[in-house]
Amino acid sequence: EHLINQIKAGEVVERPYNVVKELVENAVDAKASQLHIELLDGGKQLIRITDNGIGIASSQLFTALERHATSKINKFEDLEKLASFGFRGEALPSIASICHFTIKSRPASQEVGKEIHIQYGKKSSEKDLSMPCGTVVQIKDLFSNVPVRLKFLKSTATEFTHIHDFLTAMAFANPHISFRFSHNGRDVFFYHAKKNLNERFIEIVGLDSKEYTEVNYSRGTFKITGFAGLPSAAKTTPSYFITFVNGRYVKDKIVRSGILQGYQGLLTKGLISPALIFTEVDPSWVDVNAHPSKTEIRFYDASSIQELVSIGIQNAVKESVH
Ligand code: ADP
Ligand code: MG
Repeated sequence: EHLINQIKAGEVVERPYNVVKELVENAVDAKASQLHIELLDGGKQLIRITDNGIGIASSQLFTALERHATSKINKFEDLEKLASFGFRGEALPSIASICHFTIKSRPASQEVGKEIHIQYGKKSSEKDLSMPCGTVVQIKDLFSNVPVRLKFLKSTATEFTHIHDFLTAMAFANPHISFRFSHNGRDVFFYHAKKNLNERFIEIVGLDSKEYTEVNYSRGTFKITGFAGLPSAAKTTPSYFITFVNGRYVKDKIVRSGILQGYQGLLTKGLISPALIFTEVDPSWVDVNAHPSKTEIRFYDASSIQELVSIGIQNAVKESVH
């Protein structure tokens, strides 16, 4: 079992980003309204996620660290739905097998919380402690027992960028949650809870309401919604293109090219405008075998998707310009 966890972890956890993704998704699943993500050295030294969600009962805390201990699968359809989120009850044990791992949690129904420390997959201590309601998961020295992974880790800046982009996307997708992100002891951003996506877009991108337009276009089972900056908001710096496909955050070449194509002829050459784009496509258009923990996906008919995205963007932007 110990070995299985390490093998599984080696497969699915490639870099600090994968850990942050699993932990943030757990916190969102736990209905947290406040999230604090702290990193040292791009997550290589330390990742700590503090949430104010429902917590885990002390009697269940160790169980949550065992394989297939998910509290989320009840029916077969759940299994199918969860498939898109990667691990199924395996994230915590896998991660705990490749670092110094600490989890603390307290549900509102308990006076005190519990803390468990795991060293490379083996429990090394546990104790009761007083803490606010919610959960804190801390990962120190990720991969320190997996030399191959350690060797191929990228620079702090690269790891930071992956995590930063993902957290920004999560903040867009969950406007009602406050996201605080700190790196090496400094706040990178602190997005407060907002009423809707519109307000969050303005908060993150820093545009006023005259500088962007809503995107809303569909054809058949294809649908594109979101916000696109108008030419007046364009900058030379590569600004935000945040894209989701079927609810999943992706950094997809095709969607990106579609956005750029949509802006063609509308922006001064060399300038780029921020956009937040949600694309819904028929699930049969996407290769489901593309790895769930990756941010790339594969479309069977890439050129049609690119074309449809570009039409959606172009329609919205043109209409507001004229
Ligand atoms: P999964 O998310 O697929 O269920 P995980 O290994 O990520 O599997 O988590 C195992 C279980 O631990 C979850 O099903 C959930 O019950 C509990 N859990 C994990 N993280 C949190 C959290 N931040 N708040 C509350 N419960 C959590
Ligand atoms: Mg999980």
